Amino acid sequence: MVMGELIQETDVLVIGAGPGGYSAAFRAADLGLDVTLLDMQKRPGGECLFQGCIPSKTLLNLAELIHEARRTEFMGVTFDQPRIDLGKIRAWKEKVIDRLANGLFTLGEKRGVQLLKGQGVFEGSDRVRVYNSEISQIKFRRAVLATGSRPKSLPGIEFKQNGRIMNSAGALALTDIPESLLVIGGGYIGLELGTVYASLGSRITLVETQNRLLPEVDPDLVLPLKERLSKIFKAIHLSTRVLSLNEAGNRVETIFGGDVDTPDQTFDRVLVAIGRQPNSDGLGLNTTKVSMDANGFVVVDEQQRTSDERILAIGDVTGSPLLAHKASHQGKVAAEVIVGKPSAFDAQVIPAVVYTDPQIAWCGLTEEEARKQNRSIRVERYPWKLSGRATSMNAVDGLTKIIVDAETLRVLGFGITGRNAEGLISEGALAIEMGAQLEDLALTIHPHPTLSETLAETAEIFLGRAAHVLPGRRGDANGP
Ligand code: FAD
Repeated sequence: MVMGELIQETDVLVIGAGPGGYSAAFRAADLGLDVTLLDMQKRPGGECLFQGCIPSKTLLNLAELIHEARRTEFMGVTFDQPRIDLGKIRAWKEKVIDRLANGLFTLGEKRGVQLLKGQGVFEGSDRVRVYNSEISQIKFRRAVLATGSRPKSLPGIEFKQNGRIMNSAGALALTDIPESLLVIGGGYIGLELGTVYASLGSRITLVETQNRLLPEVDPDLVLPLKERLSKIFKAIHLSTRVLSLNEAGNRVETIFGGDVDTPDQTFDRVLVAIGRQPNSDGLGLNTTKVSMDANGFVVVDEQQRTSDERILAIGDVTGSPLLAHKASHQGKVAAEVIVGKPSAFDAQVIPAVVYTDPQIAWCGLTEEEARKQNRSIRVERYPWKLSGRATSMNAVDGLTKIIVDAETLRVLGFGITGRNAEGLISEGALAIEMGAQLEDLALTIHPHPTLSETLAETAEIFLGRAAHVLPGRRGDANGP
């Protein structure tokens, strides 16, 4: 031992205080364990709170207000052009983060969790060296690895603070409103942040190497979004690759390869949103028995145990889907497994939401996956132009889609595009978790007029008794 080292012992050391880590720490403390929660940030929240879900949705909420106000003129209400005060927007975003981070800090303290700022590096299966902290080393009985993920970079491109080539964190810092912004990547982060900047006045060009936006999402659900984005973005280039990026003065020079007329273009700023990679390197995992897959994600079983009996892992660092609610669910499982409860991460579905305008949400099996698995399914789509509530809100660019087992009529998958898809999808998730059949959805009385009726009415189309669709017709073949 080095003289002057401060060594601490704990039952459970959680490394990383994102939604996965703080959920694990809080649950473990509630179960009576002595818990230390270590993070490089002083307060819990992780990528989700400081540079991800919360700041992006705070800004998307403003984007939605701005877009909505622009769409009401033909209904008889006209607003002035919005006046953007970037300083105030940043302050509002920081206030939201601050309020939530303070709340988490207090919740941790009140539970008796030791919240420690510092960077952890394993020195074996039972100890972690801590850098930039008052504690030098922590010895643990069990550790939960919850170090999350970070944005991937393009080869040879470094994200510099205040640089014009930004990752999602740089874009969320909202340094200025570039006149022109190139978004590289048609996944949800690129589309969401592109939407934010478009609403603030930037001209957005988006490039995606694949031949569709949101490649992992059902194309039926993406179609209304693509139509909308082609109105608010200057250009969307699919099957296009960025061959080079060069920051020159106040501009970024780019060369594209693929489906684009002008391969050489310059932009005020560039957002690189091409995916995320696990924070599993530089953690000293080679001093433990933890194993990783070829992409560096930590391998776990359904009880969140790694191949090292003392170490569990949760959240983004364990692989797809990289979502906060998956991380927090796994965190609770890990804590319960540590105290010997028979818990497992055995969720039937993990819903996902894209907070664009319109929003997209889905859970369970998609039509493409079902076909690949040769599963016998039936599919119905309910276009929102049939919905009274959607029409009253001028939100008819939506769709509800349900996938069921052809024989048992058990619901297997839901997809929703449209206003408040984020809220509506939970009914689908519950239905699948409960093993619901179409009849259950159809017989559940949904309040009128609401967008939730579209779920029940989609079920009724299957059963041939939907009021707004003629018997024997498909939902998407009908109109009022
Ligand atoms: P993280 O939240 O990544 O937290 C990991 C923590 O570990 C960090 O605080 C980090 O400081 C700490 N850490 C890392 N290494 C060390 C170390 N060696 N020592 C100490 N501490 C360490 N997900 C959603 O579900 N919904 C959304 O709407 C959504 N929007 C997003 C928008 C953006 C722009 C981004 C970037 C992400 C978004 N996500 C969203 C993804 C979400 O943020 C992640 O899935 C989630 O944060 C993962 O949680 P986690 O607990 O695994 O790790």
